[in-house]
Amino acid sequence: MDKLLKQTTTVCPDCLDMVPGTVIERNGKVFLGRCCPLHGDNEALLASDSALYWNQSDVKACGVSCCGAAESHSCSLIFEITERCNLTCPTCFTASSPHLTWSMPFDEFASKLDQLLAAGKSSADIVQISGGEPTTHPEFERIVAHCLDRGIAKVYINSNGVRFAADRPLVDRLAAIDAARGRVHIYLQFDGFAESTYSQIRGSRNLYPVKRRAIENLLDAELFVVPVMTVTRDINFGEMGDVVRLAREHHPKMNAVMLQPAFYAGRYENDKGGEHLTMAEIAHGVVDQTDGMFSLDDFGPIPCSNPNCFGMAVALVRGERTIPVSRYFPRFESWNTPAVAPLVEQVRDRLPATMLEAVAESDTLDLLLDLLSENDDSANWASYREFFVVGIKPFMDALTYDQHRVDACCVHVIDRAGAPVSLCEYNVLRRPRGLL
Ligand code: SF4
Ligand code: SF4
Repeated sequence: MDKLLKQTTTVCPDCLDMVPGTVIERNGKVFLGRCCPLHGDNEALLASDSALYWNQSDVKACGVSCCGAAESHSCSLIFEITERCNLTCPTCFTASSPHLTWSMPFDEFASKLDQLLAAGKSSADIVQISGGEPTTHPEFERIVAHCLDRGIAKVYINSNGVRFAADRPLVDRLAAIDAARGRVHIYLQFDGFAESTYSQIRGSRNLYPVKRRAIENLLDAELFVVPVMTVTRDINFGEMGDVVRLAREHHPKMNAVMLQPAFYAGRYENDKGGEHLTMAEIAHGVVDQTDGMFSLDDFGPIPCSNPNCFGMAVALVRGERTIPVSRYFPRFESWNTPAVAPLVEQVRDRLPATMLEAVAESDTLDLLLDLLSENDDSANWASYREFFVVGIKPFMDALTYDQHRVDACCVHVIDRAGAPVSLCEYNVLRRPRGLL
């Protein structure tokens, strides 16, 4: 029998008009249903395991109900500095390719960033330099250096790694720009190990050796690398465990791995058959494929954004040991209680990388670490680099669009006019209509 969890606003996947949506639980799964006056009923899977769906209908990220992105907190500001790419992936939500030519002039980038910082976005923890493929931008290095000069805490470069594999001098120059070692992270597209994975997800042959060479060059130059895997049920679902292990082997230079279930936005040309791959299914898959490294209890939401926008499992790394700790973190259900609320407040409005820095400084975690560290001095745990994180980022498409999540969004892409917009809203409602 259906159990109503909440009402929200969603979109019709055919005409993209906003329509009322209903989130229900049925047989241990969670679904989003809607009825468009023109196109009829549609239902999409939101969670394959209702235990890993966290119901929240009010806006939590900025504390203001239904605030616009311009006023709400941004953990991450994404600049798409070029639409050009050196690949043409069948799964590209920006529909980039080598045939496109637009790139944002440096002065425009600098002016938009400065305006955002002046308008109160200076608390953003992360600026993501994205595209297309950002390394194809003629002034890519200058843009990265400018972000660091402006005091951005972390600069993430969303890259497919092709240039980092082929151009070692570029990697060395990037490392030199990040002279403080630790503010530039390469958010590296890495979908697995099989040739068939890359031919299907990236539409390119012999890409795996390129990815390995990119990793080799970046780590050799002492840059931080976060492998980012687009996960598709019928293509590379079974490779998640090996990707997690690869990252763990390279800790602390890889202290996180991101798993993104494929979503149907932009140029999505692969098979859409069957139900959506959800955060819950990914979490189950990681547990099954990592030989006890994590349990399902380790996966939970973060206080930033809507709880269904990010799930993560956290471990502490001690030599060869990987000690899962997030199972001891406060459960979502307790976040509003007096004992837990201050810690939640402390880490709210941050992305995981900087969130862990806040957690690492908290008394609560010190106590936990004392227990876990078997008489080690807890001061040794002060660095968040001791953590190893498996993150799951389920971006939305028209089928899964939940306005509550958009209202609480803290991952904002900068539109052509320089305004911050929820990335999911941008992908679902604005790119398809050319409202960039
Ligand atoms: S998904 Fe990334 S690498 Fe692939 S075409 Fe799009 S921008 Fe390029
Ligand atoms: S970008 Fe999408 S998935 Fe990420 S926080 Fe915003 S609404 Fe949630």
